[in-house]
Amino acid sequence: MKKVRGIFIKNDREIEVMRIANRYVSLILDSLEKMVKPGIPSIELEEHAQALCREFEVKPAFQGYNGFPYAICCSINDEIVHGFPSERIINDGDIVSIDMGVIYDGFYGDSARTFAAGNISEDARRLIDATRESLYKGIEQARPGNSLFDISSAIEEYAIASGMGVVKRFVGHGIGRSLHEKPEVPNFRVPGGTGIPLMTGMVLTIEPMLTLGSADVDILDDDWTAVTVDGSLAAHWEHTVAITSDGPLILSQS
Ligand code: MG
Ligand code: MG
Repeated sequence: MKKVRGIFIKNDREIEVMRIANRYVSLILDSLEKMVKPGIPSIELEEHAQALCREFEVKPAFQGYNGFPYAICCSINDEIVHGFPSERIINDGDIVSIDMGVIYDGFYGDSARTFAAGNISEDARRLIDATRESLYKGIEQARPGNSLFDISSAIEEYAIASGMGVVKRFVGHGIGRSLHEKPEVPNFRVPGGTGIPLMTGMVLTIEPMLTLGSADVDILDDDWTAVTVDGSLAAHWEHTVAITSDGPLILSQS
């Protein structure tokens, strides 16, 4: 892998390995989506994710990362990200964000989706849809010739036009042989610049976290779970995306 301005540039073979890693993540999320129903404890999602990692012969990427104890992050309702799966029962009307990563053949995959449990409110549906759509607005900009903050601006503009709060505490990132590589990928325009030029061979996660209310964040006593300060609902969608000469290539799909 060559390095440009501190950023690892992946060749076609490396991107192909990352496509496989991320496809496993997507398959696991597909399977977890079917389990997200009122009445199950969220720890069952963790157990299922672990079982699929064994079946696929991939390593969970988050478990042990800076001491994180689980394979999945499971964040319910006002939890934004980094929630712990637990004995907590998922209720009708909850929204459940699952973030999952694996390591395959030395490379990382990383993706997140927010799922509805049973019948959710119209506001919760609008939040999930706006978060997913803002992700795709960002992905559209992930092409050579653009700059990093074209991604950031597209996400922020769509989120604000949809009436959502944009969480600034957490951002997307480069990804490859490490879970977190340069550059950071903010979900908002950073004043005073355009960001680095985007180049073929960069692989980024793009991962907006939007809220129905305040986008300010508290961290719970477990030192991980990030929640909205005002208790408003939050959603999180993430894809790992390679920048190719043909434009963005979403790696984290089945
Ligand atoms: Mg993630
Ligand atoms: Mg990520």
